[in-house]
Amino acid sequence: MRQNLKNIRRCVIKVGSALLTDDGRGLSQSGIQRWVTQIAGLRAQGIEVVLVSSGAVAAGMATLGMEVRPHALNLLQAAAAVGQMGLVQHYESCFKKHGLHAAQVLLTHEDLADRTRYLNARSTLLSLLELGVVPIVNENDTVVTDEIRFGDNDTLGALVANLLEADLLLVLTDQDGLYDKDPRLSPDATLITEAGSLDASLDAMAGESRGDLGRGGMSTKLSAARLAARSGAHTVLANGRTENIINRVIAGDGLGTLLLADQSAVTARKRWLAGHLQMRGELVLDKGAVRVLRQEGKSLLAVGVLLVSGSFLRGEMVRCLDEQGQEIACGLSNYSASETQLIAGVSSSQIEATLGYVAEEELIHRDNLVLV
Ligand code: GLU
Repeated sequence: MRQNLKNIRRCVIKVGSALLTDDGRGLSQSGIQRWVTQIAGLRAQGIEVVLVSSGAVAAGMATLGMEVRPHALNLLQAAAAVGQMGLVQHYESCFKKHGLHAAQVLLTHEDLADRTRYLNARSTLLSLLELGVVPIVNENDTVVTDEIRFGDNDTLGALVANLLEADLLLVLTDQDGLYDKDPRLSPDATLITEAGSLDASLDAMAGESRGDLGRGGMSTKLSAARLAARSGAHTVLANGRTENIINRVIAGDGLGTLLLADQSAVTARKRWLAGHLQMRGELVLDKGAVRVLRQEGKSLLAVGVLLVSGSFLRGEMVRCLDEQGQEIACGLSNYSASETQLIAGVSSSQIEATLGYVAEEELIHRDNLVLV
């Protein structure tokens, strides 16, 4: 029995294309039926579930009679637009048999990196959960192609786990979990049953980088687990074809690979910051500012900034470095890049005289800052 998986209240379950489809084309109706039945079982236990599901391209290819997966991104996007309807309809009809409803939520990484959209997505998803509906999230393939190109709904799943402060990210794949060696090449490879998500030895086991692997390999899943861990969510990588897999994982059976979040949960706002992907600029801080941030837990003032680079607007995310280039923190800047250029090294009381106005006394408020 895995003790860490006791008391799971909210979980994000990610199902990828490889599992959802039969040979990459058409949806695996029986697979979907099985997962839906298990998810209905979790709901009956009072566990909230958000499903992150691919499968739109595959469903669209079948509808449009495409025998082979197109290479052109625009055609893949078109197939996804057609297939998304069938995908969600299929989920809805399966959930209906259990007296549940599904909802379609299409998101992009950028949506979750934007403060306003993040808050909107969060309140919609939380409302759906409160209404007892199962949200089905997919990438919005009409406007972005991260998943189509990189197989990256794993990252989206982790961002949703951050967004909703989920306790668990369950990534269902067509493999049993993470092995110490590539099981396709080494028959003696052993399954890692449990590890800290930050454990550096996992990198070599997960294999090639996302770019080399192309689509949704183990290294993307490991990165997703690390991202989920930043808001305190554990991740389990498990084989979606294993009998009753979802219920067994939640019940604490030692199936798959459990990647533990070794950080305790941070406040919701900091959690959002941690999930932020888009850094818009960099600030180099003097020694005094580095000390104040690290040791005294204070806000960053413009007076401690030596150099400003990048182009960012008020409210956007910047990285803070020390003079040696080491990352200290990241946070939301109260001033744009051009304003920050003007007030770098200037004391807070002189901001108004320098700019002609003052937005905030701090360049980055402590509440919007995460130490790295
Ligand atoms: N988001 C897409 C889908 O749901 C991409 C998956 C793929 O590239 O096959 O189908």
